Amino acid sequence: MISTITYLTTIEFGPGALARLTDALADLGIERPLVVSDHGIAAAGIIDRAASLLPADAPRFLDVPSNPIEAAVKAALVAYRANQCDGLVAIGGGSPIDLAKGVALMATHPGTLEQYAAIHGGVARIAAMAPVIAVPTTAGTGAEVGRAALITLGDGRKLGFISPHMIPKRAICDPELTTGLPPWLTAATGLDALSHCIETLFSPRFNPPAEAIALDGAGRLWHNIVTAVENGADIAARSDMLMGAVEGGLSFQKGLGAVHALSHALGGLPKPQLHHGTLNAILMPPVVRFNARHVGDKIGRLKSAMGLPAGADLADELDRLNHSLGIPAGLATLGVGEDVLDWVVERALVDHSHPTNPRPVSAADYHALLDQVMR
Ligand SMILES: [Zn+2]
Repeated sequence: MISTITYLTTIEFGPGALARLTDALADLGIERPLVVSDHGIAAAGIIDRAASLLPADAPRFLDVPSNPIEAAVKAALVAYRANQCDGLVAIGGGSPIDLAKGVALMATHPGTLEQYAAIHGGVARIAAMAPVIAVPTTAGTGAEVGRAALITLGDGRKLGFISPHMIPKRAICDPELTTGLPPWLTAATGLDALSHCIETLFSPRFNPPAEAIALDGAGRLWHNIVTAVENGADIAARSDMLMGAVEGGLSFQKGLGAVHALSHALGGLPKPQLHHGTLNAILMPPVVRFNARHVGDKIGRLKSAMGLPAGADLADELDRLNHSLGIPAGLATLGVGEDVLDWVVERALVDHSHPTNPRPVSAADYHALLDQVMR
């Protein structure tokens, strides 16, 4: 069964929802979309599945790097203009969706990308953009309903571009597109989604609707992640994972926290290239421990939503889950050297997720958190 849900944006949700793509294009008046995706998604046959639902010979931009960079936005913008496109269809994980948002922004706004970054006052400069239809193939980032795009500039800074106008005009969420995700990516993207639900719940901003959505998302993700990793074809588990990811995306405009401040900084390292979800999975247990006494009764509400006993230690449970899902032990295992940690902390302190951590975080605190995961 496919449901139409309008909350921040319109979401077509359910197995087979991809079939709604043609109607979505018509509704939004897009006649010549640029399809933005990557070579992995193309190789998995997902673009071919979408092809019959798109205008014949819709142009494609497949050179999306694993973390979106400004140079790729510029290259896609050239294709967008050369083909006289009037909208975008992003198919993939967070990277193609964020990249498409960047193209939609730059296709309709003058000047350089940098001036639209949130930390440069860009929120007020972003007005209506070219329409984006997002078709997620992972259950993780929530980018399909999120109002932010994370793009790394030429100088290595990974910046957030944030505006209600950045929210895709339509999200087509078809869990059948996620059944081919390999177990490690199912785990890492699912834990990214769980980190959105947890961090935004802990954010001190007053937004009870977002908290209610985050709690529901955390429960769905917690109850289904092991099944989805062990049996990727289980469509019920895949549906709950995708809904949990969407709910993370619907709620995280309340603000995230230290997990994301650090993972955005680490994700901007030119080498090694690190997976956002894997980083968040590793960072969550120590950050939850760091915040535990500064979030009132929220941990109790979270444990109840996740079906954990009142006496359980949430951080320990997250550690145990990481271990059982085969998440790498720490940052050293991923090739992060001690020499980059000062650089990482400097950037975490100016990240847009830093101010909404429930407990103020100093440079020394960030170093202590990183020390705990340098194994
Ligand atoms: Zn995230």
